[in-house]
Amino acid sequence: MNLPEQFRERTRVILGEEYDSFEQALMSDSPVSIRVNGAKCQQNPSLERVPWSSVGYYLNSRPLFTMDPLFHGGVYYVQEASSMFLEQAFRQHLHVDQPCVLDLCAAPGGKSTHLASLMDGNGLLVSNEVIRARVKILAENMTKWGAPNVVVTNNDPSDFTSLRGFFDMIVVDAPCSGEGMFRKDAESIDEWSVDNVKLCCERQRRIVADIFPCLKEGGLLVYSTCTYNREEDEDNVQWIVDEMGAEVLPLELPDDWNISSNGLGYHFFPHRTKGEGFFLAVLQKKGDDGSFRMKPARGNASTKIPTVLNDWIESPSDFVIRSVGDAFYAVPKSLTMQIAALESELHVLQAGVLLGRLKGKDVLPDTALALSDILRADAFEVADLSWKDAISFLKRENILLPNSAKGWVLVCFEGHPLGFVKNLGSRANNTYPQEWHIRMAADESRYEPFIG
Ligand code: SAM
Repeated sequence: MNLPEQFRERTRVILGEEYDSFEQALMSDSPVSIRVNGAKCQQNPSLERVPWSSVGYYLNSRPLFTMDPLFHGGVYYVQEASSMFLEQAFRQHLHVDQPCVLDLCAAPGGKSTHLASLMDGNGLLVSNEVIRARVKILAENMTKWGAPNVVVTNNDPSDFTSLRGFFDMIVVDAPCSGEGMFRKDAESIDEWSVDNVKLCCERQRRIVADIFPCLKEGGLLVYSTCTYNREEDEDNVQWIVDEMGAEVLPLELPDDWNISSNGLGYHFFPHRTKGEGFFLAVLQKKGDDGSFRMKPARGNASTKIPTVLNDWIESPSDFVIRSVGDAFYAVPKSLTMQIAALESELHVLQAGVLLGRLKGKDVLPDTALALSDILRADAFEVADLSWKDAISFLKRENILLPNSAKGWVLVCFEGHPLGFVKNLGSRANNTYPQEWHIRMAADESRYEPFIG
């Protein structure tokens, strides 16, 4: 690995005599880890645990995830282990019943899917991504994860200005110089320079300054990067303390996790922990920037909501069904005011679960409903597919279901929903989204199941 000389010098200053083991660790393979979706999979896989996450596991090698239907069904998320440390910040410091949480720099959705699991259906999660091209993959991953209390937005941090005092927790997983990803992503080595570190540091401060007023008094800012340098990490945390009026909160951690701290935040180094480079700090807001005035949400009274939609969801009385164009979304009743506020200020891509779309007099159930946590178990005929048929379905090929009744069928793999087909008897029409379908040729020899 050809590390930039200035990176070497600077990191040697941070690590002292440990530097050589650090460089050696960068020459070894990256650990592979996944985080299980507790809402879809209750049993614990018999795999090595990621110590700082209750739902994180290491795999012995990297399988071809595309060949695993459960990967597409949102049963787990492939995530670098150090990043799962966010769980400690959430569990140790967020003590609010129905929290309002913003993940500001959210694509592709690693931290947002984790937050959705930690929130376990309580409160509201806003997953935001400023870059338009990246917000699609964020929306896809959040849809596959299936939590109903999520809103996906596509905004610049400065667009949030009017939402003063709105959030109990804001996660800023900041765009950074990417030092911690050198082992996984060779491009980040080529892009690294001292000037880029400075640019990143300035941008990180702008992002935090824009979003900080949106925290409630006493609210939590989780600031993270995948870097080791002082400018993007400790110096920025100190700047937030000095300029924004915040206090650093400590985390209680067992020594044998080998996470380094100097009082301002927590560092993961690849020679000490099994994961990539990562930094995280938890800060609590001390001042008050006022609060956003919520208005009661207006219903779309003119649209008739097809009654069948209520039959498709578990506990329909907990949800409001809203129509947007030809689509119907289920939104938790308790969140309608907050969602109306977000819609008045931001570019909301999706809020709640897309249940289906109107076509003529019928409503066609959507893949998002199949993958959601709110689908009523007995609402549709179910067909459990073989691996071959599951991959054909995910490739958007037509499959045959001779033993199923005609009409809408929920197709599953090992009991986990993947989507819907309309069974016509002679064939079953595939409704899997065009944008999500697998383009790779099916190869069963590359399918290595690790979740039962
Ligand atoms: N949190 C994500 C996860 O866990 O999967 C990874 C986020 S990545 C480290 C940083 C994100 O910030 C990227 O998605 C990037 O597009 C976004 N970003 C880039 N410039 C930004 C800016 N000026 N303001 C806010 N976000 C920005």
